[in-house]
Amino acid sequence: MNKRYVIIGGSAAGPKIASKIRRLDQNAEVIIIQKSKNLSMASCGYPYYVGGVFDNPDQLVSAPTGVLRDPSFFSAVKDITAYVETEALSIDREAKTVRIKDLNTGKEQDISYDKLAITTGASPIKPPIEGIDLEGICTLHNMEDALELKERIKDGGGSKKAVVVGGGLIGIETCEAFQLAGIENTVVEMLDQVLPFLDWDMAKLVENHIREKGAEVLTGDGVKKFNGKDGKIVSVELQSGITIKCNMAVVSIGVRPRSKIAGDCGIIVGTKGGIQVNRFMQTNDSDIYSAGDCVEVTNLITHEKQLWPMGDAANLQGRVAAQNMVFGNIEEYEGFIGTGICKVFDFTAGSTGLSEKMAKREGYKNIIKVIHAAPDKPGFMGGKPIILKLLAEKTTGKFLGLQAVGSGDVAKRLSIAAMALHGRMCISQLVNLDLPYAPPFSPAIDNFITAIHVLENKWRRYMDGISAVELKAKLDTGEKPFIIGVRGPAELEVCGWISGRI
Ligand SMILES: Cc1cc2nc3c(=O)[nH]c(=O)nc-3n(C[C@H](O)[C@H](O)[C@H](O)COP(=O)(O)OP(=O)(O)OC[C@H]3O[C@@H](n4cnc5c(N)ncnc54)[C@H](O)[C@@H]3O)c2cc1C
Repeated sequence: MNKRYVIIGGSAAGPKIASKIRRLDQNAEVIIIQKSKNLSMASCGYPYYVGGVFDNPDQLVSAPTGVLRDPSFFSAVKDITAYVETEALSIDREAKTVRIKDLNTGKEQDISYDKLAITTGASPIKPPIEGIDLEGICTLHNMEDALELKERIKDGGGSKKAVVVGGGLIGIETCEAFQLAGIENTVVEMLDQVLPFLDWDMAKLVENHIREKGAEVLTGDGVKKFNGKDGKIVSVELQSGITIKCNMAVVSIGVRPRSKIAGDCGIIVGTKGGIQVNRFMQTNDSDIYSAGDCVEVTNLITHEKQLWPMGDAANLQGRVAAQNMVFGNIEEYEGFIGTGICKVFDFTAGSTGLSEKMAKREGYKNIIKVIHAAPDKPGFMGGKPIILKLLAEKTTGKFLGLQAVGSGDVAKRLSIAAMALHGRMCISQLVNLDLPYAPPFSPAIDNFITAIHVLENKWRRYMDGISAVELKAKLDTGEKPFIIGVRGPAELEVCGWISGRI
């Protein structure tokens, strides 16, 4: 008998599961239940739409050929039935049915399944701050938010000013979007740095770049209240007493997994609030799988179950879940190593594996680190700077992580490092990697390998080093280290002096 597969959620993981099932089982009935009006949205593209990189929102929900990925596309091209503006209300695991509600008509019905996938994603966190419900305050999480922000930018009401609450990946992308759209804006971040996946020293490079581009960044400060007039936001009051006038605010302080529908029917939800799945993306009910922002998955470096709400992970997990739903448990999703990247004006910033602060938090005591700054290709080919920070374990030489920032090709170095981490490689296995080289693409020895060489020098005790942050701390406490300047006049001209101590 033909099987019926039902998938709750129709953005990233959901459509991936549905499409893969269709390719693996031509006879199956595949149904997507999607609360939103849209299907298969390119959520990661919202900031670029808001910032005006492109102006047609349909591009966010279209195939590369330009065809809209709507229910008729899913039906005609993929033979998948997609119910949009339909909410899954509850799951009856005994009867193997899902209660669904048409959000336009209010009509409810039960649909049966043989195998079910829950891909309900995550919700943006809305903190209980006074004034949070004022008009002009929103999140940038779904298509409706993106459309609303774009409209607000269009009729900014004269003085166009915004505050971005939260300096994580989405907050920083939103800051850039505002700036590109001509909206003066300030990022307010409670921590002492933006982009928490970076160490402080790397994040400061990004913050300076944001300021150079005209936006303001305030770290170590939080929002106390949103002030309004006639129901609309007029300013944001910070814990420090600073008040910033604005007519828009975007709150981007993180997301929470949408796991209630799972928890309500007895599916185990983990300590981080995400649905618990095994390596097959299967829940504690053998007929129910889950993937994407709503699950907890294993961090392959720390071996802990964590939330990892990223689009690539959602798709990869979905592909694994689909195979296991069709063939039984044949494919495993081992986990993630924590690779992420974002564009910040002319910079790219990203990381993979552990940062120094994460390593310390995880109890690594013996780590060696290197910060390596160099152009990403020869000067005669227009090389642009990239700054790499690498970490390894002193005892074993195990490579632990890379952070990378700069206007050069950061993505390539992060990709190499991510592969090395997945392969659980050590310094000695990385020093002679055969990577592609020609002047248009890299120096003769790639920046990543050069940085690994410096790491090896430290590991083998050929040399020791001190970071800029550590040196500054010494200078600040009144120590007078003996510094010998070895840079030539041209380098000093470009890079500047360490004041008064050379
Ligand atoms: C602005 C922005 C930028 C981002 N940039 C990046 C990036 O650069 N790189 C990256 O890797 N990731 C990025 N992400 C994260 C990425 O978009 C998510 O990780 C990904 O969308 C998760 O996919 P998902 O299918 O698990 O959940 P979602 O995309 O959240 O989809 C879940 C869907 O389920 C539906 N749903 C929920 N409950 C129900 C219900 N009861 N019944 C029916 N339907 C329901 C929702 O309407 C929703 O459409 C970004 C996200 C945002 C918002």
